Amino acid sequence: MTQAVITSRYGDWEPVIGLEIHAQLGTQTKLFCACETSFGDPPNVHTCPVCLGLPGALPVLNRQAVKMAIAASLALGCKVHEKSIFARKNYFYPDLPKGYQISQFDQPLATGGTLDIEADLGARTVGITRVHMEEDAGKNIHGDQHSRVDLNRAGTPLVEIVGEPDLRSPAEARDYMRRVRDVLIFLGVNDGNLEQGSFRCDANVSVRKPGASNFGTRVEMKNINSFRFVEEALDGEIHRQIRLIERGEVFKQQTRGYNADKKHSYLLREKENEDDYRYFPDPDLPPLVIETRLITEQRESLPELPADKQRRYTKELGLSDYAAGVLTAHPATARFFEATVATGATAERASNFIGAEILRDLKTDGLDAQFPVSPEQLGALLALVEAGTISGKQAKKLYGDVAGTDRDPASRAKELGMEVMRDEGALEKLVGEIVSKNAKQAEQYRAGKTKLLGFFVGQLMKATRGSADPELANALLRAALEQDTKDR
Ligand code: ADP
Ligand code: MG
Ligand code: ZN
Repeated sequence: MTQAVITSRYGDWEPVIGLEIHAQLGTQTKLFCACETSFGDPPNVHTCPVCLGLPGALPVLNRQAVKMAIAASLALGCKVHEKSIFARKNYFYPDLPKGYQISQFDQPLATGGTLDIEADLGARTVGITRVHMEEDAGKNIHGDQHSRVDLNRAGTPLVEIVGEPDLRSPAEARDYMRRVRDVLIFLGVNDGNLEQGSFRCDANVSVRKPGASNFGTRVEMKNINSFRFVEEALDGEIHRQIRLIERGEVFKQQTRGYNADKKHSYLLREKENEDDYRYFPDPDLPPLVIETRLITEQRESLPELPADKQRRYTKELGLSDYAAGVLTAHPATARFFEATVATGATAERASNFIGAEILRDLKTDGLDAQFPVSPEQLGALLALVEAGTISGKQAKKLYGDVAGTDRDPASRAKELGMEVMRDEGALEKLVGEIVSKNAKQAEQYRAGKTKLLGFFVGQLMKATRGSADPELANALLRAALEQDTKDR
């Protein structure tokens, strides 16, 4: 859409990239039957006549999946069509017992969206061709002697998000993939679990001379399940295509796999085209007709999307881009941050403490997240810092004491005898000791190496186990060090 600035990474060749993303919808049950959707259970326990493709079994559409697909479409700026059609995509594969996959073809659920990205070529808007619903296939598990089939996944609802060939670099593809994932996890319709395959993409790429009006022959790389791999695989493939073309070779459109360990791609098949699949409307399923009311409802209940959240955190709360990015990397982190701020903590304090301490101890599993403390506990802890009752150092210690328990930070601070040390006399005495014990550093300080003040503050903090009032500590140390200068 927006014109890219062409980089010279690939000589005078311009990559053209479009991703097809498959994302599992986080429903309880499969798309056309009541079998549970699950991951990691023993093989073939979540199956029934419908998802086994037994004769006479009839599909019944899962309403929840439709709602989730509508939400995803709207969040990606697409127009949701009131009528769409389920079609059979016919092919044979052992993990596809019916001999066809139920998908949507010439009348998909939604079309015409956009997504804002920002990577090596700057801020750009790219197009989203369509969002449609389909069922997942099962899994073939290849052993040394035998291959086995697990159909637990067969019939799991997916949205396929087809992007326009608007991406112009592997880094853009990676950023696009991550942003689509972020949108879906903030909607709560996908768990964003790339390792488990619930979010994966096929990456299409061709190269051409910049300004050329036609696209080159594309290669599709199947089932890439990591942000890093998509970037690596595309980079390798772009170089491969350029080498072929510059050698004068002609290649056919093909489908390739990517081996992340060996960092190379290999031929799967020369690409089949639409005709090979003999698409036709599924006679077992009526057209999907969506009332306008349902679309409106879904639109009105869309949550704040991650990009908007990040923008708000910087514009309204004054956080850095980086901090806002960290807090919006997972919806649970954003919720935790907002709940902490709601207790009265300043955005900056909350953001700093979450970034420095909490995230280290955070455990996430898909959309679930387990925080070491509650937002209320963190709020109470930061209130003690804000009021000057405890120092930043003590706050970290107190956090360690409270984490994983339901202890109240304020009463624990009392019990542990934590309090900022403001006793000038006592501090001055310590300062005197420290300055004479570190005569060499004091000398250097006086010779102009004033950044050694940090060293002295560190010593004082150590001596007071982090309880010295930082401002007072600075002032007393500076006075003592400069006093000595005047004395001589
Ligand atoms: P299919 O469904 O057969 O894979 P589509 O025409 O729907 O084919 O395109 C699939 C994806 O390939 C889209 O994401 C699109 O952006 C991308 N694409 C199409 N043509 C090219 C091309 N010449 N170079 C790179 N990507 C392309
Ligand atoms: Mg395709
Ligand atoms: Zn089933």
